[in-house]
Amino acid sequence: MNRELFAIFGNPVSHSKSPLMHNLAFKGLGYPGCYNRYRLEEGTTLRKTFFDLGLKGINITVPHKEHAYNACDELDDFAKKVKAVNTIVEREGKLYGYNTDAPGFLKAISEFENIKTVLFLGAGGTAQSTAVILKEAGYHVSILNRSAPRLEKFAKEGFKTATFESFIPKSYDLIVNMTSAGLEDESLPAPIEILETLIPQTKACVDVIYGKETPFLKLAKALGKPTKDGSDMLLYQGIIAFEHFTDHRYSFEEIKRHMKKAFTL
Ligand code: NDP
Repeated sequence: MNRELFAIFGNPVSHSKSPLMHNLAFKGLGYPGCYNRYRLEEGTTLRKTFFDLGLKGINITVPHKEHAYNACDELDDFAKKVKAVNTIVEREGKLYGYNTDAPGFLKAISEFENIKTVLFLGAGGTAQSTAVILKEAGYHVSILNRSAPRLEKFAKEGFKTATFESFIPKSYDLIVNMTSAGLEDESLPAPIEILETLIPQTKACVDVIYGKETPFLKLAKALGKPTKDGSDMLLYQGIIAFEHFTDHRYSFEEIKRHMKKAFTL
């Protein structure tokens, strides 16, 4: 049987759960696909590498999402808007690009009820695409970041922004750690005095980091708040990517049933 080949491109990429998630779904659904990982050193070679390896589709992780955007022939409207692509599918020699991180995050937080105002801690690439999709979905998003430069593009797009120095605390329904603080260290995404003021007034706290309980989530739990780590975002972006890979042959729930096993193994 001829299998379609898929991969995740990133650097580093050895930690990625995507091969396990997608292979479980291919196997469970009986789809002839096989998914590997590929450490791509140089983002500008992404398109050539894709074709040299004879791939049908890829996911793209740090630091190549902008290169992936530039490598595509066609982009869906949302990927065009946020200029970041994490999923590419080849159809008749053309590369089609999508962003599934942001819809994955939107789905993950929509499981909390009565959320209108959201505070993002962090202003990186993930914050950018998710802020746009949340705004389109009717949420009011404010951005708090350690330093000023990354806040400029958010301010231009109409988001309320502040640094730790200029921030005036108020009440938000949801607080999200969008930084990498806590990923490989034990740091908090903002000074503890700010967090201890904000968290007691919020309904829930979310972290985009997965696979560990970050200091931010530990603090939120200690203050009695419902929490969610980045696992659902990861799962949901994977399911939406899989829908593109398999041309929408399976429903979200069908794919979820198999892919979510990656989080219990
Ligand atoms: P970027 O490198 O683009 O952005 C990093 C941001 O974090 C900046 O705003 C930076 O602030 C801030 N930051 C970094 N370290 C600290 C710190 N110690 N204290 C305070 N602020 C800090 O990262 P990405 O947007 O690409 O990724 C952000 C996170 O999202 C990562 O942890 C990544 O693993 C996670 N992620 C999770 C996904 C999932 O499916 N669950 C999908 C994609 C990403 P400054 O501007 O001051 O430097």
